[in-house]
Amino acid sequence: MAEHIDLQTELNQKISVSSHNLQSKYKLLNHLDRVLEWEKNGLTYPILVNFTLTNSCSHRCPLCTSRDFLDKRTVSFEEAKDIILQLKEVGVKAIGLGGGGDPTCHPHLKEVIEFIGQNGMEVSLTTNGQLLTDGIIEAVVKNGTWIRVSLDADGPQLFKRMHGMEEEVFHLVVGNIAKLVEARKFFTSDVVIGVTYLIGAHTVEGVYNAAALAKKLGVDYIRIRPFFTWDDAKKEKVEKENVENPEAENVEKANAQIVQMNIPASISKRDGIQRVFPPKSVREPKSEEILRELQRCKELEDERFSVSYPVDRFQTIRGENQRVHKMCYVHHFTTVISADAKLYPCCMLEDNAKYCLGNLKEKSFKEIWHSDERKQAYSKINFKDCPNPCMLEKHNELLWAIKHGESSEEISLKEVLYAVKVPQAHANFL
Ligand code: SF4
Ligand code: SF4
Repeated sequence: MAEHIDLQTELNQKISVSSHNLQSKYKLLNHLDRVLEWEKNGLTYPILVNFTLTNSCSHRCPLCTSRDFLDKRTVSFEEAKDIILQLKEVGVKAIGLGGGGDPTCHPHLKEVIEFIGQNGMEVSLTTNGQLLTDGIIEAVVKNGTWIRVSLDADGPQLFKRMHGMEEEVFHLVVGNIAKLVEARKFFTSDVVIGVTYLIGAHTVEGVYNAAALAKKLGVDYIRIRPFFTWDDAKKEKVEKENVENPEAENVEKANAQIVQMNIPASISKRDGIQRVFPPKSVREPKSEEILRELQRCKELEDERFSVSYPVDRFQTIRGENQRVHKMCYVHHFTTVISADAKLYPCCMLEDNAKYCLGNLKEKSFKEIWHSDERKQAYSKINFKDCPNPCMLEKHNELLWAIKHGESSEEISLKEVLYAVKVPQAHANFL
């Protein structure tokens, strides 16, 4: 942060940093009370809780990162309501409903969304989009801050490869996205609707058309993310051949292998010795093409539609990223509740027994949050078990800078000043 700031000029300056950046790395600065409390006492309550209502999923994505624990575990509606009230009591501001499995497989998703809304918290929904009923659509459009559908394809062929599902499911998902846009109009809601696309060498050819489709459907944005998977035996099987011959033509071979993979039985395999990162077969052969396509997608942007991707996470495609921070602090501000009511530091470590912070079936949220059990679990966090960079990387960079005065070059003091003055979009969704 070695930059000269003329405070008088800055004070008179018009704000130029977009407050519409849904992925702003400065969101935590809109929660200075919590940040200062953490800095002083080493403890504060979370702003956002990601709640996995169920581990069931209607899709069969061959390389689903949750596949080790996709099963029938589901929080009952009564348990969910009790947990939501406990979160409200400690001042949680937003609840993200995602996976684990797919929240639409929960029999009371509609009621859960409404319950969160009635209790004054923000709510978001991340889904594969297949089982969005009219009731869920109405509930999310009326109560939600945002909803995101994992599209990951420009047509049935790629959809089959990515989600393991047949053509009619692709059309169903696309139809449901259109229904969401329609319902937003009908209920004059300002819920933000987005789609996501996982990009790798095996999907790069569809990204532009998928972005164009998203724009045509009338959603607000497409978020393109690098394809990550677990570092496990299956991945190694795909990689082994590609390490020997990491050329582009080998991608087709890898694709065939990916399509053949089935989600294994529900044995928890997140034992703390696995890592998440893009497999070589999809991150290396076409990295330049991926970066070119991302730029091309940007051309589709206009005042109603945006294209975003995490620049820092794409840098790993070219092996450029380095970490300044030495510890994870962001788990003080956001946490994950799994479908069996256990707490974990983040979704990337969900269901990893080594990092379980406590069980809500045995203790209250407050008790767990202040417990030695939680402290012991988070103090064990080893970056070897985390993707690099992870989805919450930017918040850790900021927190490290606040606590230790040491920051990456990407944190700008000028932007920090603006961010404190301007509410960041979706500030409660870290
Ligand atoms: S939609 Fe695919 S990636 Fe998501 S939980 Fe279901 S199987 Fe896994
Ligand atoms: S993946 Fe990121 S947020 Fe999760 S524990 Fe690791 S560093 Fe922290």
